[in-house]
Amino acid sequence: MKEYKLYVSTCSFWLIMLIFLLLGSACAPTTRVPQISEEIAAQEAEKQRELAVLEFVKLYKRLQRVGFRILQANAPLCGKKIRYDWGFIYLTQESISKNYRQAYMHLYGLREYPTVLYVIPTSPAEKAGLKPGDVIYAVNNQHLLPGTKGIEILSQVLKHNHGEKIVLSIERKTKKLNIVIKPVCICDYPIILKNSDQVNAYADGQHVVVFSGMMRFLDSDDELALIIGHELAHNTMGHLQKQAVNRTIGTLLGAIVSELTGVNVTRIGAQTGQLLFSQEFEAEADYVGCYYAARAGYDVSGAAQLWRRMAATHPLAINLKGSTHPSTAKRFLAIEKTAEEIKQKIKRGEPLIPEKKDHYKN
Ligand SMILES: [Zn+2]
Repeated sequence: MKEYKLYVSTCSFWLIMLIFLLLGSACAPTTRVPQISEEIAAQEAEKQRELAVLEFVKLYKRLQRVGFRILQANAPLCGKKIRYDWGFIYLTQESISKNYRQAYMHLYGLREYPTVLYVIPTSPAEKAGLKPGDVIYAVNNQHLLPGTKGIEILSQVLKHNHGEKIVLSIERKTKKLNIVIKPVCICDYPIILKNSDQVNAYADGQHVVVFSGMMRFLDSDDELALIIGHELAHNTMGHLQKQAVNRTIGTLLGAIVSELTGVNVTRIGAQTGQLLFSQEFEAEADYVGCYYAARAGYDVSGAAQLWRRMAATHPLAINLKGSTHPSTAKRFLAIEKTAEEIKQKIKRGEPLIPEKKDHYKN
């Protein structure tokens, strides 16, 4: 036994020696690169985090500016999914992840009380005189607590409002002011910016989500309005719920066929059910979304160009077959037709309401 142990430790010794020998002969770079101290690298990292925050906030402001207009203009078409909003965005130090907190504090002077980051142009908040950088310390004469408690109180007061005016007590530099704002009714589908390079956007039934990659791809606010309108239409037309119903029907049919044939096709049935009408739902979201953008005052006549640019960068989408989405060719042509339909209605002074199929008309 002792001899065996000795053998093992001798082996380990030579193995370690071999590793050192191999490491010594590993290939290394041969030029003298600049040496960077950890301290200077940390300073540069903070600077880069600030640049990332500036870029994100720039896209976020644009998304909220266009989105607010669309949500407000289409409130009469959003049924019961409506809420009141003032058109300002606020933050506290605690609402930012630790990694980026310092950058936000440095750039926007965030404090422990809710601080206004952005006031949406033409919103009630802007008309009432609220400004970015204003620190909110009380709402309706109720003093806020510092930190997350303050945000909770403020968001609860705003959430449970039914159209009444609110009084924000704010501090602007050394001045203290009371600002009275009456909200407006908007569609209750918050618009979220997702930090991702993908040229994508989606609706989850409750929100509209736009990727930063999509924001950079879009040339104008008219094009962005078309994308937001499209996703909003998925929500308002209940496409997700309809797909869920079709999936259930597919699952049931699959189960019946499985029972009759002895071959399990339940999963295929569910998938087929879910994909049923998916292209039609996309075409409907394009059609209704066009109206949503136009109702908010955006010019949809040239916005279809985005599908030509999409085709140029993603040629596979030109002639899609068996996909969940219509081809870029069909989308471009259908949006052009819808834009013409809208143009004629504007000329005739008719209301901008999407046309229903004959058997869905009242
Ligand atoms: Zn879609």
